[in-house]
Amino acid sequence: MKLSRINWVTYKEAPAEAEVISQQLMLRAGLIKKLASGLYTWLPMGLRVIKKLENIVREEMNLIGGQEILMPMAQPGSLWKQSGRWDQFGPELLRFTDRHHRDFCLGPTHEEVVSDLAGTLLQSYKDIPCTFYQIQTKFRDEIRPRFGVMRSREFIMKDAYSFHLDSQSLEETYLDMRLAYTNILNRLKLNFKIVTANSGAIGGDKSEEFHVLANSGEDLIGYNTEFDYAANVETINIAVSSMTENDELPGALKEVETKDKKSIEDLAKFLGVEKSKVLKTLIYKGVNDEPIAILIRGDHEINPLKAEQIPNIKKPLELISQKDAKEKFSLELGFVGPLGLKIKMYADADTKNMKNFICGLNQSDKHVINANWQRDIDLPPFLDLRLAQSGDHVQTETTSFVINTARGIEVGHIFQLGRKYSESFSLKITDQDSSEKTLTMGCYGIGIGRLAASCIEQKNDANGIIWPESIAPFRVVIIPITNKDNRNMIEDESFKIYHFLISKNVDVAIDDRELRPGNKFADADLVGIPIRIVLSEKNLSKGQIEIKYRDQNESFLIDIDNLEKTILES
Ligand code: ATP
Ligand code: MG
Repeated sequence: MKLSRINWVTYKEAPAEAEVISQQLMLRAGLIKKLASGLYTWLPMGLRVIKKLENIVREEMNLIGGQEILMPMAQPGSLWKQSGRWDQFGPELLRFTDRHHRDFCLGPTHEEVVSDLAGTLLQSYKDIPCTFYQIQTKFRDEIRPRFGVMRSREFIMKDAYSFHLDSQSLEETYLDMRLAYTNILNRLKLNFKIVTANSGAIGGDKSEEFHVLANSGEDLIGYNTEFDYAANVETINIAVSSMTENDELPGALKEVETKDKKSIEDLAKFLGVEKSKVLKTLIYKGVNDEPIAILIRGDHEINPLKAEQIPNIKKPLELISQKDAKEKFSLELGFVGPLGLKIKMYADADTKNMKNFICGLNQSDKHVINANWQRDIDLPPFLDLRLAQSGDHVQTETTSFVINTARGIEVGHIFQLGRKYSESFSLKITDQDSSEKTLTMGCYGIGIGRLAASCIEQKNDANGIIWPESIAPFRVVIIPITNKDNRNMIEDESFKIYHFLISKNVDVAIDDRELRPGNKFADADLVGIPIRIVLSEKNLSKGQIEIKYRDQNESFLIDIDNLEKTILES
């Protein structure tokens, strides 16, 4: 491809709103263009990356016997009512009505549509096991679209669905898929972990997520390499042994003025104590308008999945607003505490050993110090309600151990769904003995745009993106350095090399734009082309050209005769 034929614009600066490096570099390198919140156009350079990535995914899916299909993005609401998700999915599901006033939605995922398809395609035991997959655009009306294509509203996903007679067959395909995903991430040279996950809104029995490790990741993973353990912290049960005994003697309960010290940080700083000395009281909405208080140590965080198990609490978990707290329940958020609090309370198990703690006094600008359970506050039910963190002891079925944590970007998710959808869609086949059997299902998703962004998060430098060779927009770029006297000669030589590489099936671009060499070098580095070939009069006079790999600092010279060997074998 001649770069002069591509409408490619690069930028020195990223827009201020770009929070993470992949978003900044994708925008600067002219890979994507923002249309509106969470909506992006893939530009010519960017789409080359996406198409290569899709092909890697496609190859791996085909290798495990996946059949590619393409389902519609617009889906009838009736199917979502049949699965029960029309009411469960919440505002991420973008709903609309067609001209005949029928309910529709834009597909955030395709379990319903593929189940409808399976109902007609799969009739006999001979039709299964089978796996369908598609690479298609999804829409989720994310509450906070951010990080560019990593959390957008419209995004490309490869989603696959498998159908089986029994759980053993499901397990086999699940493991094939697990290996295919592992191969995809290895082909992209990503550093990743496979972690135990929660099945979330999709539902089902067993699931694992594929996380690319990066500080910008929105998820926290707890892991212990020795025990070959990795799990999303939201799924981790904390062992009782992690709670240290505390033998402090009870001090005298004392009221303290804490004007404007509403946050735990401000309060702990003001009182000169660690955040772990503060008992935080959070008020959540209940069903029937009854608020529910959760008490947790100041340095810990609520795990919504655990808190949502509390009887009568509203799902998804939602804090009450400042206005409702004040007007409906006379609560001053920031100064709420368990002393004399008249609403139902639950406490995280790790607060049980707290002694002489600080908590709100349910009056503006007041807290108490030296509060103690039983003497001052009746014991609430203690439950495991918090998110695991580094240093916590984890309890598995067989053993307990300490975990470390790392941040991860969830790029893929594989589920054993079981019969959730096959039951609501009556997916039955006739078995060998003529009996009717309900199918069991698996589903498997991998985000194409998020995967591309993850590659950038893991590999970049001050000059730009460092793509793995397999998905760079071009593998090689040729840059001729010309002046008005040698222009024809250098361009002729450059095009000779260009056509030679094309004849060898190398994905090569030639930078024939009317730009200074410095700008061409900068653009090639920014967009992350793995191999750069520079032709100059001085080197050509010696029969040589300069080669530079994007992920190395130094360039080197080779004889033109060695080009094929150097490029094709690198
Ligand atoms: P998250 O927890 O990050 O919202 P999810 O659990 O909702 O992800 P799945 O429903 O498992 O995601 O979707 C499968 C894959 O689709 C994810 O692993 C991710 O790669 C991709 N994906 C999901 N939501 C988005 C989004 N808003 N933008 C881009 N990719 C997404
Ligand atoms: Mg999501």
